[in-house]
This record gives sequence, structure tokens and C-alpha cells, in this order.
Amino acid sequence: MPSRKYADGEVVMGRWPGSVLYYEVQVTSYDDVAHLYTVKYKDGTELALKESDIRSQSSFKPRKSQSSSSSPSRRSNTRSRSRSPGRPARGRRRSASQSREHKDEKKKTIQETALALPVLKPSENNTKRYNGEPESTEKNDTSSIILEQKLKPDLEMKHVLEQYSLRPRKDDRKKEEIYSEKKTFVAVKPVEKVPTKTKDLEFGGRIGTFMLILFLPATVLYLLSMCKQDDPSLLNFPPLPALESLWEWRVFGIILLWFFLQAVFHLLPIGKVVEGLPLSNGRKLQYRINGFYAFILTAAAIGVLLYFQFELHYLYDHFVQFAVSAAAFSLALSIYLYIRSLKAPEEELAPSGNSGYFIYDFFTGHELNPRIGNFDLKFFCELRPGLIGWVVINLAMLLAEMKIHNLSVPSLSMILVNSFQFLYVVDALWFEEAVLTTMDITHDGFGFMLAFGDLVWVPFVYSLQAFYLVGHPTTITWPVAAAVTVLNCIGYYIFRSANSQKNNFRRNPADPKLANLKFIPTATGKGLLVTGWWGFVRHPNYLGDIIMALAWSLPCGFNHILPYFYVIYFICLLVHREARDEHHCKQKYGLAWERYCQRVPYRIFPYIY
Ligand code: NDP
Repeated sequence: MPSRKYADGEVVMGRWPGSVLYYEVQVTSYDDVAHLYTVKYKDGTELALKESDIRSQSSFKPRKSQSSSSSPSRRSNTRSRSRSPGRPARGRRRSASQSREHKDEKKKTIQETALALPVLKPSENNTKRYNGEPESTEKNDTSSIILEQKLKPDLEMKHVLEQYSLRPRKDDRKKEEIYSEKKTFVAVKPVEKVPTKTKDLEFGGRIGTFMLILFLPATVLYLLSMCKQDDPSLLNFPPLPALESLWEWRVFGIILLWFFLQAVFHLLPIGKVVEGLPLSNGRKLQYRINGFYAFILTAAAIGVLLYFQFELHYLYDHFVQFAVSAAAFSLALSIYLYIRSLKAPEEELAPSGNSGYFIYDFFTGHELNPRIGNFDLKFFCELRPGLIGWVVINLAMLLAEMKIHNLSVPSLSMILVNSFQFLYVVDALWFEEAVLTTMDITHDGFGFMLAFGDLVWVPFVYSLQAFYLVGHPTTITWPVAAAVTVLNCIGYYIFRSANSQKNNFRRNPADPKLANLKFIPTATGKGLLVTGWWGFVRHPNYLGDIIMALAWSLPCGFNHILPYFYVIYFICLLVHREARDEHHCKQKYGLAWERYCQRVPYRIFPYIY
């Protein structure tokens, strides 16, 4: 028996998920494992469909003339009626006022849903709409015919709504209907395309990624060496350190110990277990959320060390060596990750790291979710060793400042930097679950980029301000400190509420807390928020993050640009990241994404960019 019925390139009729509408689509590939066909609609939207949702073109009746019985509005109404939980019982009569009210509601809802135009335009895609009525559907609903006459200019919009079966109804019903559409779709699980080869290479392709593998560690070394100089001006290049001064086995041992201690904390059976977003094959991975507990345990361990007079400023004295050891460890981890990814099944590879070019895949990450048993390496590295390590480093800098400058209390600048960054880390760990909907987890593979980023860049570059302050004491006044604190709070508020809004919406779009938000439905079944923070700019969470980054640098004064490296780099990173995300979202959501961009024109900075 053949494993597939339709060949690549074949033009067939594909059922629109959650509806009885069929559209002309072209088969582009077939996944033997998930038994899903990837099909392309005429507007470029790609979906994965089950064989039962596909029919040959010949099985469709020719289109009838536009008689009243086959009017599009009628068909749409019978369709929605047949599966709408809120429809009135068949044959129930409406009073004239009810009918008028109903019509008004329809008109109002259609107008209000103008924002929510979905992916397909009938004129573009609906060339061969299924004209054979399914036997089970009901016909005849005069109210829709009246609507069609009254709202002629809105006809196209109405067609679109029909495709989504967004039958006009009261506001609350409307939202319910959109969600139910989504649920139907999720049940079918043809959510996203099965990973294929990565064609669009990012980061400058093979040469770019090769350069980055050399450039990133060199930058860390340069920044740390600069920071140790009395005059860390940009043009005052530090002397090259002697190679033997960069390595100490004891330091490497501490790095290993730290990594494995955090791994043990992560493995503890405390904290809830949650599901991640569906993978391309519809499967959901489980994750244990106990980052905050790991943080508490680490804090207790550090407290014990300090109690027994352990000199934490050892970290400050050997800071460059720690960074080098962490870099060596992340390189070894990346090599391991790449080797194991060669044996990973195709469907478990990252959509962005499957180019077939060694250096590119090594850098961007070949395997999406490498796991040893239930231990998810990427998820673990995202928030544990590096992020918690960053707080410990900051604390070590604070103690070093007090010791070196003989202070009984740390400087105000140091307190601000430590507190702001402490808040950022605690927030990330407290809302650890939210990381499951970020690009790093859902899209990027685990390779050198994330391993180095999580284990070296974050702890050693993000702590640059605290490191700088130890060698370059800066005095700020209380009013300045207050202003900077307000700035940080504003940034944090935007960052947190935007991330929570999106995360809650992705996890449970029917959450009553989100009832006031509007969104554009998309072909994948996910919506795109167009009100709230995500209606303000396209990446409000980046905006908040950048404002905080500025607040972290300001306590270091204006004598040198070095403490501002973070905010400058971070703007570049997030602008580039935003462009990457934009590209992915356009591929994922097609026209719906373009509509979102029209509705929300600014990417990160309102009225600027
Ligand atoms: P986001 O959390 O911003 O996620 C982007 C995804 O959100 C998109 O791919 C899309 O995914 C979804 N999305 C986009 N627009 C909408 C919308 N209108 N409605 C609903 N969903 C939408 O990406 P990141 O992973 O880059 O960032 C997460 C956080 O981490 C941010 O706060 C960022 O500032 C921070 N960050 C911090 C870094 C650091 O070094 N300190 C580095 C990088 C990020 P889909 O539709 O598939 O769900």
C-alpha cells in the first residue's frame, strides 16, 4: 500500500482547518513520520494537513450559478450554524425586533472585526471554492441575505469572515468563536511546517558565523582587559595578556562544579512540570519549572560560603580566567551538541540551523531541543548557570569594591547596578515558564551561539558595569539615583507586562484577563495581538529591555563609554533580532503578518523605528 496518496507538486483541494471549506493548494512535501502533507495556498500560506483533509480536484462538483440557494453567504451561514455552539435552535422563529437586533449585531461585529482580517483574501486564493455542499450542513438563513445586500461595500470582508466562520454575533461570542476556531485547528495539529533545509542563512552565512565564533570570545577578552585598565578609553588598547595567565585548572574546576551544581538543582523534583508550545510534529515537550528554587538554593549555598569566610572576591581577582574557562566549557558543549545532533531525527532539527553547512549549523544550533533523558540542555542553560552566575559575579564585584576601597557600605552606583540586575534575573527565574514561548526555545537550535551566549556572554559581559565600578569608582547624587531608578522601573514595567501579555495569550488565548485584547487570527491557528502592548509597537518587550539597559549604565557616570557597551550592543542585538523575528513571522503568518505591520507600524521605538 502506498504511504502517500498525493505527490509533490500535485494541485489538490485542501480543507481549511476547522471549517468545511476547501481551497486549491499545491502539495510541497510529505512527512512520513507525522503523516502530514505540507501544502501551499495561493497566497503563499503553508500548512501541514492530514490526508483526510485533502481531496482531489475531480471530486468537486462544478460551481452552480448564483442562485439564492448557493449564495456564498448562505453557504457560510449553514457552515457556521452546523458547528456553532451559540446558534439558535433550528426552526426557531425570530421576532422582528430580534431579527433587527441580530442584523445590527452582525453589521457591528463585521465592522469591528475589520482589524481581524485573516490571511486569505477570497480574490487571491479562493479561486476554486468548494461548491458541493456537505450533506450535513443546513441551508437558508434569510438574515444573512439581507446583510449581504445592506453591506455591499463590506462584501469582501464578509467573505473573509466566512472563511473563518466568524459568524457575526455579540462581542463576547465573537471572541469565543475565534478561539473555538483555534481549538479545532489545534486538534487537527497541522500547525506548522515540518522542518526542511534552512535556505535563508542569517548572521552573514558561513563566513559570518565563522567570524563570529572567533570574534565573540575575542570581544569578551578585550572588554574585560579594557575594564581592568586605569584608563579604559576605547583607543587605549590593553596589552595582550600572556597565554599562561589566562588559564588555571582550579578556576576551570569551579566552573565545572558550578555547572553541575546547577544541573543537580534543576533535576530536583520540586516545581511544577509544564508543557512547551507544540513542535512542528504537534508533540509537546515537558519542562520542570524550578529556576527560582535553584536561585534560593544557590543563595543559601553562597550564604554558607560567606559565613565560613570564603573570599568571594577571588572571582574578581581571577575574572578573566573564569571567562576563559567558561568559554572553553561552552566550546566543548557546542562540539558535543553538534556531534549528537548528527544522529537526531530530521523532525527534531532546528528550522534555522539545518543548512547542511557544518560551521553554520554548529554556530546556530543544529538540534532544536537536545535532551539527555528528560534533561533539556537548552532550557537549562538559558536561565540557570549563566543568569544565576551573573548575580553571583555582581555580588563578588560589590564585595571586591568594599574591600579594595575600604568601604563599610558599597557605593550608591554599585547598589543600583546590583539591584537593577538582581531584579532582572529574579524576574526571569520567577517567570521562567515564559521562556518557553521565546525565539530561543521555539525557533533557534542549541549550538555555539546560545551556549556561548548563555554561559559566557551573559555572566561576563552583562556584569561589565559592576566590574567597571570596582576599578573606577563613580559618585552619583540621590536625585540622579532616584531618576535612574524611575527609568529602570518604567523599562521593567513595559518589559514585564509585554512579555506576560504575549506569554499568557500564547498559552491560553481564552484567559479572561485578556478579554479586552483584540487580535488578528492567522492560518496557523495562533492569533497576533493588535491591542495592548503588542498594539503599541511590534516588540514592546524589547523596548522595555532597552530602557532598562540604559538605566543599568547610567550609574557608571559619563567618564567612559565602556559601561555603555551593554546598552549599545543590546540595541544592535535587539534590532537585529527583531529583523530576524520579523522574517520568521512573515514566513509563518503571511498576509496576516503584513496586516499586523500595517496596523502596528513601529517595530521597537514608537515614532522612530
Ligand atoms: P519574543 O518573546 O518577543 O517573541 C517573539 C515571538 O512572539 C514571535 O516570534 C511570535 O512568535 C510572537 N509574536 C510576535 N508578535 C506577536 C503578537 N502581536 N501577538 C502575539 N505573539 C506575537 O522574542 P525573544 O525571544 O526575542 O524575547 C523574549 C524576551 O527576552 C524579550 O523581553 C527580550 O527583550 C528578552 N531578550 C533578552 C536578551 C538578553 O540578552 N538580555 C536577549 C534576547 C531577548 P509566535 O507567533 O510563534 O508565538
